[in-house]
Amino acid sequence: MALLETKNLKVYAGETEIVKGVSLTVQPGEVHVIMGQNGSGKSTLLNALAGHPKYSVKGSAEFDGKNLLALKPHERARAGMFLAFQSPNEISGVTLSAFLRRAYAARFGKEVSVAEFEKILRDKMKLLGMEPSFAERGVNEGFSGGEKKRSEILQLAVLEPRLALLDELDSGLDVDALSKIAQTLALIRKKETGIVIVTHYARILKGLHVDKVHVMKDGKIILSGDGRLANKLEEQGYAWAYKNAIED
Ligand code: ADP
Ligand code: MG
Repeated sequence: MALLETKNLKVYAGETEIVKGVSLTVQPGEVHVIMGQNGSGKSTLLNALAGHPKYSVKGSAEFDGKNLLALKPHERARAGMFLAFQSPNEISGVTLSAFLRRAYAARFGKEVSVAEFEKILRDKMKLLGMEPSFAERGVNEGFSGGEKKRSEILQLAVLEPRLALLDELDSGLDVDALSKIAQTLALIRKKETGIVIVTHYARILKGLHVDKVHVMKDGKIILSGDGRLANKLEEQGYAWAYKNAIED
């Protein structure tokens, strides 16, 4: 059974149709990449899948064979869906570790003691080569671009989602940080985890086996291919993709 299957999914902000009929099937363990120029609807698609209340949705979306659209955002998180925002918010006064403990309880439906959670967190941070003091900082408070992304990677490692939606996990990162993120993704990924990555750079994909690449334009997927399509796009640009688009 597919992990995620959308059919003719349309997403609206008020009256405005932003995503105009996207059909996407992600099998367990698959890595899908969505590329496309700014404003093509990539973030809106991911936000709507995570259940952002700002959007209304038509068409169908199933997660594990269940109607995703009937689930509230926290129920989607509980079912194992994770969205890493393009621009994560600051949550002042809440440490990353306290935030993660809450998110962990929501994800797995059980409270763990501070001491128990500290152990879980410490193990994950060790695996990721992170200093324990990082988790005692306020969520995203004064985080550099790279630190925000590292905090998301840590969330991913702790929450072990079944489907990770990663929106420009690479924005604002230098080349070294990019390859580190790719390595980390490969490291924390479980065999059955599905990943949808929005990115502008083929580079972050190095070391990850990419199953499908999709190009979005004006709210639609206009071209899909295997991992090689990402490199092709990086070389040739989007104009090439538009020329080779499948018209519907
Ligand atoms: P991308 O992530 O591909 O750059 P977005 O999904 O962020 O694109 O945005 C697609 C288009 O939808 C943009 O023109 C954006 O301004 C518009 N849009 C997104 N969210 C809203 C909203 N809540 N209200 C109005 N327009 C929106
Ligand atoms: Mg975006």
